[in-house]
This record gives sequence, C-alpha cells and structure tokens, in this order.
Amino acid sequence: MQLSFYNTLTRTKEPFTPIHPGKVGLYSCGPTVYGFAHIGNLRCYLFADILYRTLRYNGFDVTAVMNITDVGHLTDDADAGEDKMMVAMRREGKSAGEIAKVYTQAFFEDMDRVHNARFTVYPRATEHIPEQIALIKKMEANGYTYQTSDGVYFDTSKLSDYGKLSGQKSEEKKAGARVEQGQKRSPTDFALWKFSPAGAQRDMEWESPWGKGFPGWHVECSAMSGKYLGVPFDIHTGGEDHIPVHHENELAQTQGADGVLEANIWMHNAFLQIDGGKMSKSLGNVYQLQDLIDRGYDPLAFRYFCLGAQYRASLNFTFEALDAAQSALHKLYRLARDLPSPSSNTDPQVEAKFHEAINDDLNTPRALAVMWEMLTSDLSSEQKSATLLQMDQVLGLGLERVIGKPVEIPAEVQQLLDDRQKARQEKNWILSDELRDKISELGYEVEDMATRQKIQKKGE
Ligand code: AMP
Ligand code: ZN
Repeated sequence: MQLSFYNTLTRTKEPFTPIHPGKVGLYSCGPTVYGFAHIGNLRCYLFADILYRTLRYNGFDVTAVMNITDVGHLTDDADAGEDKMMVAMRREGKSAGEIAKVYTQAFFEDMDRVHNARFTVYPRATEHIPEQIALIKKMEANGYTYQTSDGVYFDTSKLSDYGKLSGQKSEEKKAGARVEQGQKRSPTDFALWKFSPAGAQRDMEWESPWGKGFPGWHVECSAMSGKYLGVPFDIHTGGEDHIPVHHENELAQTQGADGVLEANIWMHNAFLQIDGGKMSKSLGNVYQLQDLIDRGYDPLAFRYFCLGAQYRASLNFTFEALDAAQSALHKLYRLARDLPSPSSNTDPQVEAKFHEAINDDLNTPRALAVMWEMLTSDLSSEQKSATLLQMDQVLGLGLERVIGKPVEIPAEVQQLLDDRQKARQEKNWILSDELRDKISELGYEVEDMATRQKIQKKGE
C-alpha cells in the first residue's frame, strides 16, 4: 500500500520510496540528558515512535537511530552560552557522567511508560568523539571550515544552497539570526569544535587536531547518522524548532564532508502547546510525565491524547483534554475486555482503511476513527478482536493485555457480587446498594445489566 510523508525539504507530501528496497534508515534527534523530558519532548518522541511502527507495519526492515546528547548542546543556539550539561552539573553538584546517567535512565523509563518501541541503537555523543573529529577533518579538507580564537567554524557562504531546509535565503537567515557574531564571519556560521575556555575546569574536553575542546552540537548528528546509517539515508525527524538551525546545519555538514544530502526526507512535528500557549518555567506549566502520573493519569492516556492529532498539527494540552483522552482509552479497554481472545483473521476491508489512514502521512486521528467505527460496527467479535490487535501494532496502546481478558476478580469481591446478585433477585435494594459501596471500596465498579452485573476495575 502506498506510503506518503510530508517532506520539509521539498515542502510537499511525497510517495515514499526507500533508498534500498525493503529497508529504511531512520534517524531521530533525541534528548539532551541534562534534565527530565517534558511532555512537549514526549510528543516529539511519540511521533518518531509512530513513524517507526508504521514503517515496520509496512514490512520494512528499519534501522532506527536516536542520539543521546550528553555534550555540546549549548544554552544558546548561536554557539554562545554554556553547555547544558555544565548547567546541570552546577545545579546538582554532580559530574557530567552522573548527570547523563540519571537523565538517560529517566528518558528510557518515560519511553517505556508511553509504550515507545525501542529503536535499534541510541548512540551517545561522548562515545563518538573520534567520529566527530573525523567528520570535521573532512569538512576542513574540502575547504568548508575556518578557525577563530574560540573554535573551528563552518563557513556557510561556501555552500551555495545553504538555507534550503528552512527555505530562507542566506541573507534572510543572516538578518534573522539574533546573534552576537563574535569572530564568526557570518551570523549563520556555526561551531564545529569549541576550544575549552582557558582555565575552566571542564568535565568534558578532548584532544583534537585544533586544540583541546568539545564538539559543536550539530556535529554529533551528522557523524552518528553517517556511522550507523550511511549517507544519504532515508528519513530524519525532530521537532519543528530544529528546522532553521540544528537540521539546516546537519545538512550543511554532511554536504561539506561527503558532498551528499544527509537524508532524503525530513519530517518535523509541530509543538505541543499548553493552555493555548508556550510551555515555560516562568508560567509554571512545564509538565513531565511523572506530574501527570502523580495526578492520577495513565501514561497511555497521554499517548492516546497525542494520537488524537496528526503530528504536523498543533496540539493544545489541557487537563480537560487529557481527561477526555483517558475516558476514551478506558472505554476502549472495556470494549476490548468483552471481546474474545484474538483467533480468527482480521477484517481485510477495515484493516485496509486503517492502513490507508496511517500511511497518509501518519494520520493517527483518522486511524483512531476507523478503529472506533469498527468497534461499533456489526463485524463479528472474533474479527473485531483480531483487527484491533493488529491496529495496536501501530497504536501501541497495550491492547494485547486487555483484549479477551475479563477483569480478574478477587474472591472477596466475587462473594460480594454473588451476595448482591441474590439481594437484587430478592429486590432488596438497600442491601444491594450497600454491597455496591463495599465493592467500590475494594476498587471495583459494578454496572447493572438486564440479567447480570458487569464488573470492572475503577478507572479502566
Ligand atoms: P531537546 O532535549 O531540547 O533537544 O528536545 C528534544 C526534542 O523535543 C527536540 O526534537 C525538540 O524539537 C522537541 N521539542 C521540544 N519542545 C517541544 C514541544 N513543546 N512540542 C513538541 N516537541 C518539542
Ligand atoms: Zn540532531
């Protein structure tokens, strides 16, 4: 079935054809491990996960790479400011290695909690310093670099089509770059290698042909994508904020070093907004997944919430919207529990509709609509069950744990249910209500059907 993606580089939705038949190389910009991920970051990784799952759903053998940035990401995109890891080291009084360890682990826990499938490899910037130096040497040999007193820079004027990803001409980009140019020849030039500040106690510095220092942020992605996928590879992803600087510069580096595009297709997710605006520390609205869990939400409700919008659409987070997502998810679980265990074949027509939706530039809201339509259709329960399980390969909502698995009821609750059934037959409504309260205290909800009681765990 035809698969299409919107390519930021060409500004069109294009049919997808991999470079090597049957195989896909995917690179997603990952976390800077100097703090916990916020739910905006999670939207970005969820988008990468849906893409990864969709490619596999289409039968591709996917090599998926996500970098872990543990050096070089400065507090200012314009090569000024401090390394974010240094800020965290001061904040927490720990070494860079310790900081990276804590937040890398937290990142993987978050990935598991929202059911993001593991990528093939998660290379760390600090473990690929020689590869980054080798890449800079290639750019240098090809005449794309110059040196100042504080580092080695990429000379963007040497690349005639610099700016093609953001669609900004070099002059516009220069005007837009609110940068103290320092010794750079142009505001759009960017650091490939920064020298350690004199006398600074740096936790992270390496020898290089140009002097002791550390790599610029963009270098790691060109170096590691080249190492694990070869260039050009198929698809590169990240948040839309990366288009004008980070990804533009990654593209320039690979062109400078290897004379080819880094990736053919560039896909970017729109930002998650909070209460209609930007997330910001000063507004106190920067939420982490743990904050949602502490308020009693299921992490998969956040996943469901994100699936409700296509990745390129802006998405506004509110607790009301998260409530609605959680109710929908739990309704889905209730319906799934009532289905038989999956055995028979899927329904090819419904599956095709779902597949078409997801293959249309990851249209998750349409895919969810196909799923709900199926659940209320007159398809047999067996087919619903098998088709739902298949859809969950892409949706990742953990349906294999619930489909065909009625709630396991503890003996104590079963006894209360039996007593209540008897009370109802005897039309003893007072006792029946008392028993309902007792059942509720034990964490279960009972619903009265025509001839039986239906029980479920609270919140599911
Ligand atoms: P960082 O750790 O700052 O490098 O960010 C990791 C990823 O999250 C990047 O690809 C960003 O583009 C993305 N990102 C940051 N903020 C948001 C947001 N509010 N919504 C969606 N994606 C975001
Ligand atoms: Zn990157």
